[in-house]
Amino acid sequence: MSGISASDAAAISRHFRVEPGTKVDLGHHDTRNTLGFERPRDAKELLHETTEVLAEYQRRLAAQDSDSLLVVFQAMDAAGKDGAIGHVMSGVNPQGVRVTSFKAPVGVELEHDYLWRHMVALPERGMIGIFNRSQYEEVLVVRVHPELLERRKLPGALEDTGIWKRRFGEINGFERYLVDNGCHLVKIFLHVSRTEQRERFLARIEEPDKNWKFSAVDIRERARWDDYMRAYEDAITHTSTKWAPWHIVPADRKWFARIAVACIIGDKLREIDPRYPTITPEQRAELQAAERELRDEP
Ligand code: ATP
Ligand code: MG
Repeated sequence: MSGISASDAAAISRHFRVEPGTKVDLGHHDTRNTLGFERPRDAKELLHETTEVLAEYQRRLAAQDSDSLLVVFQAMDAAGKDGAIGHVMSGVNPQGVRVTSFKAPVGVELEHDYLWRHMVALPERGMIGIFNRSQYEEVLVVRVHPELLERRKLPGALEDTGIWKRRFGEINGFERYLVDNGCHLVKIFLHVSRTEQRERFLARIEEPDKNWKFSAVDIRERARWDDYMRAYEDAITHTSTKWAPWHIVPADRKWFARIAVACIIGDKLREIDPRYPTITPEQRAELQAAERELRDEP
């Protein structure tokens, strides 16, 4: 198999995109889907070629210095967010990318509204920002554990029955504002099955080098699987917008998930289509003068 063309990447991205207005049922999204690709012997090579495209577009994005790209990753534990981020971004200049991992908010974060910490972590113009978990935790983990709202110091939060719908609207508005101001979004839900999560947890327990990744909290959250699925379905249904649609990427096959993620990000970068700035005739004359001076050096 040779590289993935721009039109194949666009088709893969389109396939996993949630069209705005669609009611999402995660049970209908096969976590083992590989779109008919069999694990190519050269999966690594294929991913490498796809990430080279990202590297080139990142250079152009930086040179153009007007737009930025924010990639949001959400998933259940052990779905492979970290691995996907590491592999997909491996070819990109580290100076052009910033990854921010969001844990439960603490300290000054709790003194502000829930979007504040995400706002300050946004990518600068010319940069790619990656959110490893995001503002969506506020309508996912907080929805599954409403007692977390108590710590948010929100006036009357617990009595506010319309809070989730309202937050979907707030997040949509926030994202619309970002896109209107040159920060494009790609939102990816890595969809792993409950059975595959079990296998990966067991591996984390059995293999000493993976022990550090395991946390007893993960088992507690796993027990709430169905509640999480309902929260994800509702969140994705209400926040897949024209300006920032979700992609539900099957994640039971890591090699495929990584290639699909690279295609989705690559497709968005092609759509942004950043260009190296062209120079003015005056700048060209300056370059030529500098060249003459350098060549004439004794
Ligand atoms: P892994 O998949 O390797 O476990 P992770 O993203 O789960 O990676 P952890 O350090 O295990 O990283 O967990 C981060 C935790 O922070 C998650 O359980 C997540 O639900 C929680 N978290 C993130 N944002 C919020 C939030 N706004 N409110 C409450 N909890 C949050
Ligand atoms: Mg975790």
